Amino acid sequence: MKLGIVGLPNVGKSTLFNSLTKAGAESANYPFCTIDPNVGVVAVPDERLRLLGDFYQSKKVTPAVIEFVDIAGLVKGASKGEGLGNQFLANIREVDAIVHVVRCFEDTNVIHVDGSVAPLRDIETINLELIFSDLEILERRMAKTTKVARNDKEAAKELEFLKKVKAHLEEGKMAITMKLETEDELAYIGSYNLLTYKPVIYAANVCEDDLADDGHSCAYVQEVRNYAQEQNSEVFVICAQIEQEIAELDDDEKKMFLEDLGLEESGLEKLIKASYRLLGLISFLTSGEDETRAWTIKVGTKAPQAAGKIHTDFERGFIKAEVVNYQDLLDCGSYAGAREKGLVRMEGKEYVVKDGDVILFRFNV
Ligand code: GDP
Repeated sequence: MKLGIVGLPNVGKSTLFNSLTKAGAESANYPFCTIDPNVGVVAVPDERLRLLGDFYQSKKVTPAVIEFVDIAGLVKGASKGEGLGNQFLANIREVDAIVHVVRCFEDTNVIHVDGSVAPLRDIETINLELIFSDLEILERRMAKTTKVARNDKEAAKELEFLKKVKAHLEEGKMAITMKLETEDELAYIGSYNLLTYKPVIYAANVCEDDLADDGHSCAYVQEVRNYAQEQNSEVFVICAQIEQEIAELDDDEKKMFLEDLGLEESGLEKLIKASYRLLGLISFLTSGEDETRAWTIKVGTKAPQAAGKIHTDFERGFIKAEVVNYQDLLDCGSYAGAREKGLVRMEGKEYVVKDGDVILFRFNV
């Protein structure tokens, strides 16, 4: 699961990316934090893991992770190939969701590519490039479908849909804001892999002073919120510069630093958690003396497939899952205690795994 960080030059993408990978790497002790200079594997903050790890006195605690990709270089004209634009757009096509960083801070030392801070204009500049790029994809698809549609009803239906999407994009709107009416339409749009159909989180990068009230007194942030609301997208207020400083601190220092700012958790932690949610992901947990670990699955995953995340043999030989909710387990004080109270359930192949399930899989080898 990958998220791409996009935005105009000089809005704070690299600063955010660096603090994400740094914070993720340190808190998780993750060995392969950087695969590639532009790709970072980031731990998903999860208090449950620490508590469960203490409960079992596990030797190792391993968090769930997601990947962030720093997609620099998107500028006006990118879809026309300007500044290696097409390459960057191709990178965005490979991600599952987008974090769009928007500059909401004033700083005369940091040049703005368009001369002034104007969040709405910036968002529209980037989104327009995404729209242009999608229009190209649609046109190619339409050309192909038109040929087939002459004697194929199914293709004729798709062609009508393609026209509808094209008209929508031509109004300067993102595909994600389209009202889709049928299963077919959902299937079609999913198959085009449009940039403007990917879920987006807007990260409003504010100055330090605007952090305390979550950007509510900042007119720039309000612009972003108004825009995002129309798209049903979430907005997160961060200060990339502060996040970079926080990422350098150890846990105790970090806590004090955040308290001084009047915050409970860092903007990065909130952003990572929100990204995880946005991708429709949840974690189930396995725990024992050797290791307590969070495993990532999509909402709706059934027990055998969840087992398969651990090992393909677990899925193939799946018999049943012994499941207890993490909070129930901690409340009972021991596994035996949870079992006595009937809180440890035996679940079969059709069981849909829930966030926070602690699972022991039974399987044949
Ligand atoms: P990118 O081009 O979007 O990757 O932007 P960078 O992360 O390289 O940031 C561009 C410049 O803006 C750098 O000099 C950063 O130090 C500065 N910068 C980034 N975030 C902030 C912020 O929250 N406040 C201020 N004042 N400067 C920032």
